[in-house]
Amino acid sequence: MKKYDYLIVGSGLYGAVFAREAAEKGLKCLCIEKRDNIGGNVYTENVEGIEVHKYGAHIFHTNNKTVWEYIQKFADFNRYTNSPVANYKGELYSLPFNMYTFNKMWGVVTPEEAASKIEEQRSVIDHEPQNLEEQAISLVGTDIYEKLIKGYTEKQWGRPCTELPSFIIKRLPVRLIFDNNYFNALYQGIPIGGYTKMIENMLDHENIKVVTGVDFFDVKENGMEMDGERIDYSALAEKTLYTGPIDAYFGFKLGTLQYRSVRFETELLDKPNYQGNAVINYTDRETPYTRIIEHKWFEFGKDAEGNDIPKTVISKEYSSEWKPGDEPYYPVNDDKNSKLYDEYKKLAEAEENVIFGGRLGEYKYYDMDKVIEVALEVAGKEL
Ligand code: FAD
Ligand code: UDP
Repeated sequence: MKKYDYLIVGSGLYGAVFAREAAEKGLKCLCIEKRDNIGGNVYTENVEGIEVHKYGAHIFHTNNKTVWEYIQKFADFNRYTNSPVANYKGELYSLPFNMYTFNKMWGVVTPEEAASKIEEQRSVIDHEPQNLEEQAISLVGTDIYEKLIKGYTEKQWGRPCTELPSFIIKRLPVRLIFDNNYFNALYQGIPIGGYTKMIENMLDHENIKVVTGVDFFDVKENGMEMDGERIDYSALAEKTLYTGPIDAYFGFKLGTLQYRSVRFETELLDKPNYQGNAVINYTDRETPYTRIIEHKWFEFGKDAEGNDIPKTVISKEYSSEWKPGDEPYYPVNDDKNSKLYDEYKKLAEAEENVIFGGRLGEYKYYDMDKVIEVALEVAGKEL
């Protein structure tokens, strides 16, 4: 008889959804998290009344009604709609690419004029796009590619656009209407009170025990101190759900999967309004950061009581190549890494009583809604 039914490694969205589903079915879960806080990358921290997105700005958006209804059980969402602005050497453009962008870029006024400008510029690509550069030009033409895509993308991914897969850019909408809403999603918003509170609510169940500051690999090797006794890993739980990096689980024995990492330089400023928008992208190559987030605008500049906040917190986001010891953020789904992942996946499938899930466990560029959807699906089959 083991202590728990499930050992959940990682308290991010995937781990939290799975733990909750298992707990609701009467199964006992132990969730271990190597960071000192729960929530994984969606973790937010309150600074001077502002919910600061510690691991990068997170805007919840989905077309999946089941996912939207599910997440409402744990948080109320505000009506925030993401509409970032691009700053190219002091010129400001609306994102995503829409009539406001085309008007500013070319002075065009009607959708026909915009379409014909794009048509004229995209004709340099006369074949199926083979990489991100060709995909971008064939979507929006050369001017927008040069000013709003090339520099930003090369900073973000640390590779030339000609060496990046085209799917990265396919998810950016291009619209011949005046609409700055970044996401094509039926439902969108930010959890009121922060993501951390939302994850806390998910994990708040009599069948779930959460312990932070505990690394799975340490537990695997040395067991875990519980109620004054040391329990071996093998005696801890019937099954493990692992949401950490898949290659780390196997001791990197087939090689290291590459990630892009992000470094945040966060400052508290003694002024009420720094940039007038939650997200401003710096799309030139020279500015070293990719974007500046001004966190208070995710909640319209108000604190939990609805008061205006006199200060502001901004984060400059620097993209960097991941090296062991850094936080892994974005999987690099190019051919080389995808093949290596497939090899790890075979090992994962052969691993008894362990489920691999989430952005790191499956080495996938998942949005939050997709993580919830997949975790619910897996829980549905498993439990
Ligand atoms: P994670 O949140 O990474 O959770 C994994 C957890 O496992 C972590 O807490 C980690 O510390 C823990 N862990 C790892 N190894 C161990 C170990 N050995 N022992 C114990 N614990 C361990 N999605 C959106 O929908 N909208 C957005 O606007 C958006 N913006 C994003 C911005 C950035 C910068 C990034 C990186 C991602 C963004 N995402 C966004 C995606 C979103 O963050 C993910 O979909 C989601 O957080 C993934 O959840 P997860 O549980 O799979 O992984
Ligand atoms: N992108 C760009 N310019 C921008 C914003 C995005 O070229 O101002 C490109 C870039 O290649 C990026 C991709 O579009 O990787 C997807 O952007 P998104 O903001 O959706 O990615 P996220 O950072 O949310 O994962």
